[in-house]
Amino acid sequence: GLSEKLNAAFKKLRGKGRLTEADVREGMREVRLALLEADVSYKVVKDFVAQVTDRCVGADVLDSLTPGQQIVKIVNEELTALMGGSNARLTFASKGPTIVMMVGLQGAGKTTNGAKLAGLMRRQFGKRPLLVACDVYRPAAINQLQVVGKQLDIPVFEMGQADPVHIAEEAVKYARDHGNDMVFLDTAGRLHIDEALMDELKAIKAAVKPTEILLVVDAMTGQDAVNAASAFDEALGIDGVLLTKLDGDARGGAALSIRAATGKPIKFVGTGEKLDMIELFHPERMASRILGMGDMLTFIEKAEQQYDEKQAKKLEEKLRKNRLTLTDYLDQMEQLQNMGDLSQIAGMLPGNLGKQLDASQIDEKQMAHTKAIILSMTPLERENPQILNASRKRRIAAGCGLQVVDVNRLLKSFEMLQQLTKSMSKGRFRGIPGMGGM
Ligand code: GDP
Ligand code: MG
Repeated sequence: GLSEKLNAAFKKLRGKGRLTEADVREGMREVRLALLEADVSYKVVKDFVAQVTDRCVGADVLDSLTPGQQIVKIVNEELTALMGGSNARLTFASKGPTIVMMVGLQGAGKTTNGAKLAGLMRRQFGKRPLLVACDVYRPAAINQLQVVGKQLDIPVFEMGQADPVHIAEEAVKYARDHGNDMVFLDTAGRLHIDEALMDELKAIKAAVKPTEILLVVDAMTGQDAVNAASAFDEALGIDGVLLTKLDGDARGGAALSIRAATGKPIKFVGTGEKLDMIELFHPERMASRILGMGDMLTFIEKAEQQYDEKQAKKLEEKLRKNRLTLTDYLDQMEQLQNMGDLSQIAGMLPGNLGKQLDASQIDEKQMAHTKAIILSMTPLERENPQILNASRKRRIAAGCGLQVVDVNRLLKSFEMLQQLTKSMSKGRFRGIPGMGGM
């Protein structure tokens, strides 16, 4: 998939201590291929890669301590920007019910996701939605809406096979009279965009003046989804996109191209068949998801803000000489602590990295113990942990009110950290345990 391909490209970049412009260009060639394979449109890929390359070949990136990481960060920022930056929300009407018109091709997921969205609005904002059956051409469509409405306990307005424009108007009146502050119009779709469909949608739009026209597109259809988005936007004007079936093995291309192709934001994503499987779309989270790195970038940013460059260099030097001491360990602990809630930070690390940071180091209480133990050592002991014999350990334990087993546990973690750093001291080291090999 896209994540694997991108990660393979970044791994190469991170594997090198220093990067040249040629390295970056080679890496970007792989990024470009990965995006094209993921069905991101050609123009979007071209512009994206040009923009990223431009930022990456600058001296501030290439000469930085961690060029590989900087590049990943830049790619993440540009992916986020490509998808619209911050997350876009649904607009609510200032007067009268908010009318959301769900439009899209047949099978995109209008009926199910309209209902899901109604449920979400009720959960999140205490709204009282009404679902409206405006897809009158297939008898099963009305029934399907009634079934999902029943499952969610949301009322459904239907008038059989009457004129959809008339149904929409009557539904809005009904909503006003019955205290429904949101109306979801489930409109008809076709297999292909045609004039009859667009005319009908335009007539509904003109009649009820929807607050939001949400285009529902199937992420699995890749470039077709993007073409549909452009066509609907040109003919009808859309306010946002609901991208469905993101749980399938969608290649990710649609999410990346839609904003660039239409200028309209993705507002929600459908992530499964069940009626609660809908989420607000967060560009930065989607970017991280595509990069397969959890909220890793948030973590890098935090670390960078907190981590003093000079100190990092000193530590790097020590690691080169393989002389990591308990004093450094204590410094590292404090750096980590300064970054805020540790369990939260551990959660931001992707799987195996999170595990590398031994649970005992993450636990704040354990960390207080660790600090207490190190502070009970003499400077000589901190610099030369190998001299810690049984009697010294007993003295230290007594000094901090803990047990010898606690001292031993700390020494064991420290030893593990040394092993870890030894194995990565070939590359450049950023300072936080477990992050050097990123
Ligand atoms: P419509 O023709 O646009 O109204 O599409 P439907 O709402 O009837 O959905 C078509 C099919 O897609 C149904 O089988 C849905 O259960 C399925 N579907 C909709 N959204 C999602 C989603 O987010 N994930 C998955 N896996 N299936 C979905
Ligand atoms: Mg439908």
